[in-house]
Amino acid sequence: IARSAEELLGGLNEQQAEAVRYDGPALLIAAGAGSGKTRVLTRRIAWLLSQVGAWPSQILAITFTNKAAAEMKERLTTLIGPVAQRMWVSTFHSACVRILRRDGEKIGLRSGFSIYDTADSQRLVKIICTELNIDVKRYTPRSILAHISDYKNGLIDWRTRLKEHAPQFKPGQRGSKIGGFGDVEELYACVYAEYQYRLATANAVDFDDLIMRTVELLRADPMTAEYYRRKFRYILVDEYQDTNHAQYVLVRELGGVDSGGAREPGARGAGRTGPAWITVVGDSDQSIYAFRGADIRNIQEFEKDFPDARTILLEQNYRSTQTILSAANAVIALNPGRKPKRLWTALGDGSKIIGYAADNAQQEGAWIAGEIARLTAEEGFRYSDIALMYRANAQSRSLEEALINARIPYQLVGGTKFYERKEVKDAMAYLQAIANPSDDVNLRRILNVPKRGLGARAEAVLTAFAAEHRTSVWEALESLESMPDVPTRTAKLLTQFRDLMRALQTFAAGNDGSPSEIVAEVLEKSGLVAELRKSTDPQDMTRVDNLSQLQSTAAEYEQNTPDPTLNGFLETTALVADSDQLPDGDEDTGKVTLMTLHTAKGLEYPVVFLTGMEQGTFPHSRAMENESELEEERRLAYVGITRARQVLYVTRAAVRAQWGQAAEMLPSQFLDDIPENLIEWKRRETGVDSLRGGWRDDGDDEFGGFEGGYSSSSSSYGSRSRWGSASRRASSDRSSYGSYGSSSSRGGYGGGSYGS
Ligand code: ATP
Ligand code: MG
Repeated sequence: IARSAEELLGGLNEQQAEAVRYDGPALLIAAGAGSGKTRVLTRRIAWLLSQVGAWPSQILAITFTNKAAAEMKERLTTLIGPVAQRMWVSTFHSACVRILRRDGEKIGLRSGFSIYDTADSQRLVKIICTELNIDVKRYTPRSILAHISDYKNGLIDWRTRLKEHAPQFKPGQRGSKIGGFGDVEELYACVYAEYQYRLATANAVDFDDLIMRTVELLRADPMTAEYYRRKFRYILVDEYQDTNHAQYVLVRELGGVDSGGAREPGARGAGRTGPAWITVVGDSDQSIYAFRGADIRNIQEFEKDFPDARTILLEQNYRSTQTILSAANAVIALNPGRKPKRLWTALGDGSKIIGYAADNAQQEGAWIAGEIARLTAEEGFRYSDIALMYRANAQSRSLEEALINARIPYQLVGGTKFYERKEVKDAMAYLQAIANPSDDVNLRRILNVPKRGLGARAEAVLTAFAAEHRTSVWEALESLESMPDVPTRTAKLLTQFRDLMRALQTFAAGNDGSPSEIVAEVLEKSGLVAELRKSTDPQDMTRVDNLSQLQSTAAEYEQNTPDPTLNGFLETTALVADSDQLPDGDEDTGKVTLMTLHTAKGLEYPVVFLTGMEQGTFPHSRAMENESELEEERRLAYVGITRARQVLYVTRAAVRAQWGQAAEMLPSQFLDDIPENLIEWKRRETGVDSLRGGWRDDGDDEFGGFEGGYSSSSSSYGSRSRWGSASRRASSDRSSYGSYGSSSSRGGYGGGSYGS
């Protein structure tokens, strides 16, 4: 379906239309929240296809989550027809999986490689720590992994780290380093090297590897690089402010930006040569993933990176009322060193922001539940129009309790995610081990799940043999007969396990096109379901339901995919990010949505409650130590405020449980930053506040009010010292940030969004 220029530009303002039409090699669309950036990006793709003569296969569009990718494809389908479904519109992570599946062999990744999620990676790091005699209480696998992740996001190779900090260490030779590290750098370097070695023998990658190893591939193999540079003539990236260094380099490598060749503004479509045309879209005020390596300079220096770049600013906001925008503008204006931008809207002032100060978190939840009842009963809002947002996942509990008490249906985005539940991970581990037998982590996970008498000793027999012969655990199992001194009983049980896995592999090979049947076979033959059914623990019933849900997910995947395969199914599940659990935009779910502020990026709701507006909750206590982290919290506040379309609530509790103890909480400094006349307080002071002598302290320096107030009640902040700067990184609790799984969690980026 070719669209006319008028159709593609219809309903856009002048700047938006200019961005859609722009005919040149490098374009930055820099604009505040809700100004139509994502909308313009989508239209621009349609424009390139129907007006510039680009082929669908020449376009690579990067979104922040899989859900955003699906939505963009959907809109493109209505604009240009079904060809959109086959286009490369995806997260960085998904795009890299696709590249590595096709060409990963050139850097030693065999087809069917596994993708480890955060939990898998932590397991592996823990195994390594035990072998290297590292005290995991002092150096938690989580904190070590955070450092490894930083290296990868910065494209720092393990070989380089080893050369600099531990030249004598040889990965893959256990015993070559037994405890006694000179310094932490040496420790991290050794674990990093060993971790990469283990991933390689397991034929596996982690989320960060997806990006780093794709860059490695493009740099190591000129033919592959050439293939993609010829292929992708147009690269478009949404949420560019949250790209990290590795992603930045990836875009340049894929686009052939540094490989010379003239940038030819005049050349068209299929005939173009030289570097790809690059369009990036973002808002430096919404950069909120620094803890995951996002580098705000990528967007700030775009014009330097691309001297021929054109920048287009969008200033009209189509999402929110002027009241909401003025609050957002006032908060973000306090960040130093930013380019001032004024967002405006034609939507009018709308209603005031509503504030509420509760005595404690329970009361905060109860009041919110009451408001939701009123909004739906009297003001015509639906439950699905309403979102509750908070800084850290742990805050959801008191809100959930209040909603349950008030019988208000809700959905929680994030938290313990489906694919992180133990029983689901167990079943997935079988599938991974079937698809990729060298995957040691997953194979070892299921060796004794369900219990079959293969305990730590049996595992040790296998891993010792594997280490000695430098093979995988599966190959060790295959060589069982030539292993010396295996007790007869153990040998028999290992043989049974091997037979089981061989049978499942054979079944999978014969039914590759039907992952749901493979899932069914695994659930039955492994004994996973049988073990849960035998149990009297009521929770195990839920676990059985979850496993049947997994089978349904596989069936759903099968129906929605042209050429379903087991590997394809494993991929879709590996890259699920928090926000992907959200239903589509307009769908009325009949439920209120709860999520962290990080997960809320890019989304919008008619009614938003920003909860837990307290010093130490938001801004997070960890961030109050450090000015640049405080700036990031302020950006997070800006993201939160600008999610609201019509009504914004800000609520706080004067007492909140922290580290298992009730702590007095002062109002968030962000409440102070919002001009007073924009907020209508339903309750402003609590009993606790009046004992303290009020809270609005008009110190003229930015932190005056807060520092003063803080120290006056600092005794209640016993936890403050936990965040001493030395331990900050090590104890940084990434999961409390909500998303990534971890992407990602799973997150992915969406990376995890990371992709994930
Ligand atoms: P964010 O910074 O939060 O990612 P954004 O800049 O990507 O926001 P969009 O999500 O694209 O903004 O648009 C915000 C809202 O405004 C959407 O509901 C979109 O449909 C609407 N919108 C954008 N441009 C226009 C326009 N020209 N006319 C009417 N509505 C518009
Ligand atoms: Mg957007």
